[in-house]
Amino acid sequence: PWASYKSTISCEQAFTEGDHMSKTVMALDQGTTSSRTILFRDTGEVIASAGVSLECRYPQSGWVEQHPEEIWSSQQQTITEVLAKAGMTMADVTAVGITNQRESTIAWHRETGESLGPAINWQCRRTTNFCEKLKQEGFDKVLRRKTGLVTDPYFSGTKLHWILQNNAEARKLADSGKLCFGTVDSWLIWKLTGGRVHAIDISNASRTLVFNIETCTWDDEILARFGIPRETLPEVKPSSGVIAEVDSLLFGGSAPIAGIAGDQQAALFGQACFQPGMVKNTYGTGCFLMLNTGSERITSEHGLLTTIAWQLGDTVTYALEGAVFIAGALIQWLRDGLELFEDAAQTEALATAVADSGGVYIVPAFVGLGAPHWDPYARGTIVGLTRDTNRNHIVRAALEAIAFQSAEVLRSMASDTGQSLSALRIDGGASANNFLCQFQADLLGLPVTRPQVIETTAMGAAFLAGLATGVWRDQEQIQTLWQEDRTFTPQLERNVADARLAEWGRAVERAKGWIPSTNL
Ligand code: ADP
Repeated sequence: PWASYKSTISCEQAFTEGDHMSKTVMALDQGTTSSRTILFRDTGEVIASAGVSLECRYPQSGWVEQHPEEIWSSQQQTITEVLAKAGMTMADVTAVGITNQRESTIAWHRETGESLGPAINWQCRRTTNFCEKLKQEGFDKVLRRKTGLVTDPYFSGTKLHWILQNNAEARKLADSGKLCFGTVDSWLIWKLTGGRVHAIDISNASRTLVFNIETCTWDDEILARFGIPRETLPEVKPSSGVIAEVDSLLFGGSAPIAGIAGDQQAALFGQACFQPGMVKNTYGTGCFLMLNTGSERITSEHGLLTTIAWQLGDTVTYALEGAVFIAGALIQWLRDGLELFEDAAQTEALATAVADSGGVYIVPAFVGLGAPHWDPYARGTIVGLTRDTNRNHIVRAALEAIAFQSAEVLRSMASDTGQSLSALRIDGGASANNFLCQFQADLLGLPVTRPQVIETTAMGAAFLAGLATGVWRDQEQIQTLWQEDRTFTPQLERNVADARLAEWGRAVERAKGWIPSTNL
């Protein structure tokens, strides 16, 4: 799974080149489905990487949990493995960066360090009722204004509220000041420092629903409404800066933890989208789009989220974020549900075997539609079928659907900021598909650039850590490490692209409001 690093060099190579002056940065990439650790050289090359897959548990419909100790032990295992591969100890590492699945919520005992129950995963819907209640009270408006987020079970705050309501031990510990709460970055920092440091980076804090992104502090009004004692919360840190030392007993030596960001923010940084107006899209199971809006906190008219991208020194950079729920997952469905092909990589050849999609549109509203439509009652649909439609048309329409959905989010971003976007940087598994990239450029009328390293998340964490420890001088230098693989320039005439977008819009109308509201 780590083959996507074009610049990967073997360990032997790394150490026969005799470049003893080069510095090493370690990136911990703790995701929902895996924990990974990657060692980067100061040239941006990968020295070695290791990954371990991680499971989710589904104890009830809509509930998603992970085991906090498994999150840590899998991460620990990959650190040990990667150091062994490279023939290093932690003392050889100049800085450690962390990037993580966001919003997932963990509570633990401040004295014993033991977790109290499962990590409530970001996907978990158990706090739906509490969110509904908040909306009925009109508190969603307070949350939107102060946190930039929507009132949804996705974010950490209502999950912590749930723990305090439902876990008697956690409640008791909270009352006696012995409860620690954290997102996954906090949990890893706690473990890495042998329980000495309880901290969170500001980009992760901005996803908790209890953090005020204007004042950049935990918000007392929200904490009071959620019944969360302030002492349970971690100390908020900038995304780049030494915040702690790795406990020397763990990995044979110590190194500073110097950079942290949530996965999407790290990807934006790893894509070197440092200037306002720069935007990235990650094409994975879903699509995650993030636009750097600089010092401006822009409130979206299209249901996009306002969030903190990162803090460097005293300067906070904001972002607009939008997601497409089903992107690569549509390709998976064609593969596993319809059995149209065996490997996602075949889709490029299938799609380009026909001149066009033959008028077919697939709206993959399997779980409703997100921004800018926000229709939970929508369901998937295929329209425009004729007797001539074949497999290739369907595959092409599926790839086009990924681009159409992303284009709608990007158009929303442009409209919210009142500025046209200049270019799009892309990454994620499906960005390997050249047809998809070209069609995205055609639809947007913008150049679309894929970097050499499409695993930008880990790269971003490494950049943040290296920036704080002198591995890299400044962002200008980091900019030079970001290397382009290929740029796709728009080739479709604008009026044709607009006509296609309009047709897509008509297809979306067919998908909207499909299930009765009582069926949700
Ligand atoms: P995630 O991190 O969300 O698991 P990845 O970034 O690993 O996702 O990307 C995997 C997704 O990309 C899968 O949903 C898969 O169907 C899709 N995918 C992978 N390769 C291709 C390809 N060549 N063309 C289209 N989709 C692809």
